[in-house]
Amino acid sequence: MKLNRNFKNLKENYLFAEVEKRVKAYSAEFPQSDIISLGIGDVTQPLSLKTVEACKSAAIDMSTRTGFRGYGPYDGYAFLKNAIVDYYKSRGVDIHADEVFVTDGAKNGIGNFLDLFDEDNTVMIPDPVYPAYVDANTLAGHKIVYVDATKDNGFLAMPPKKGKADIIYICSPNNPTGAAYTVDLLKQWVDFALENQAVILYDAAYEAYIEGKGIARSIYEVTGARDCAVEFCSFSKMSGFTGVRCGWTVIPMASPLNRMWLHRQAIKFNGTSYVVQRMAESALRGGFEDTKRMVAVYKANARLITQKFDELGIEYVGGINAPYVWFNCGIDSWQFFDYLLKKTRIVCTPGSGFGKNGNGWIRLTAFNTEERTVEALKRFEPFWKEFKAVGDKLFTHI
Ligand code: PLP
Repeated sequence: MKLNRNFKNLKENYLFAEVEKRVKAYSAEFPQSDIISLGIGDVTQPLSLKTVEACKSAAIDMSTRTGFRGYGPYDGYAFLKNAIVDYYKSRGVDIHADEVFVTDGAKNGIGNFLDLFDEDNTVMIPDPVYPAYVDANTLAGHKIVYVDATKDNGFLAMPPKKGKADIIYICSPNNPTGAAYTVDLLKQWVDFALENQAVILYDAAYEAYIEGKGIARSIYEVTGARDCAVEFCSFSKMSGFTGVRCGWTVIPMASPLNRMWLHRQAIKFNGTSYVVQRMAESALRGGFEDTKRMVAVYKANARLITQKFDELGIEYVGGINAPYVWFNCGIDSWQFFDYLLKKTRIVCTPGSGFGKNGNGWIRLTAFNTEERTVEALKRFEPFWKEFKAVGDKLFTHI
């Protein structure tokens, strides 16, 4: 037996394990302390009643002779594929149901999609970004090149003047920075991909949070994207499905990847459950009111954070089109993490865990409740003022 030799090239999943380790150590020392997490990347609101009703009704279908379903289609049931097509149509984007593939989440879709590519591919990945892209490509043995996202480009990496790629990842709105591309900026990536005969793997997991004018909610808003891009999306952050598990992939029919992916799914996937697909359908039907309500709660929390940051003069991006606020802490990210935890009992996520350009930056999430977000900001304000006035000296005793 020969093991996948690329496994040894994976970096240990250091970020969240290390966050947990430090929080555990702190809790062990101060068991009574009331810790607030603004580090979590998971939703906290319960499912909407409409989604739960759809779940119940689908379960009852399964109990009847006529409604029972066994194995479903590899690419998803027509009722959900059509609801997804309509969801795009409501935003002015035309796709065909045969271009939609229902998955059990965007992470699985993004990772498994690499089955379609040869090992001999150069992959371009923004830094900082959602760590799963780097890990999945390391495992696949691909050569990875990075494009810088820094404060100079508003944390929106742009195509390099020199350099080639076969596969390009774009995450917009971005995790961890919350920065989102306009249609015009994305056009530069589409042109670059077409010149390079590359494919763009576009992760739109947070598109439901977009409110800004001119910000792209789908890469297919960009002319030429149908000739070079695949889009991944998810019900996780729009409908609270992180535990339910459902997402989708859009692959234009003209691309050979469309048939290849169907074939791949037929080999390795037996479909997302009928009940879950009915729940997902209910999230999209009826003007997606529940989705809007859920997203609005997190966006209101993000607004509380950005308003406070504006007051305090903190440099940040994100928080408008995303549930993430990314701010400049001015010192090593992990050092700041420790200061913040020990002085305020707030947990954040150190930016350096998302790539080298993240060092000196911190990700806060809007996924906690309003009450806890308000309480966290109450603690944060005096901490930040002291930190700015005295700097590192204040913390030498920690
Ligand atoms: N893409 C991005 C950018 C994410 O941040 C996440 C989860 O945090 C995912 C994909 C995973 O989505 P899913 O829950 O659908 O697997």
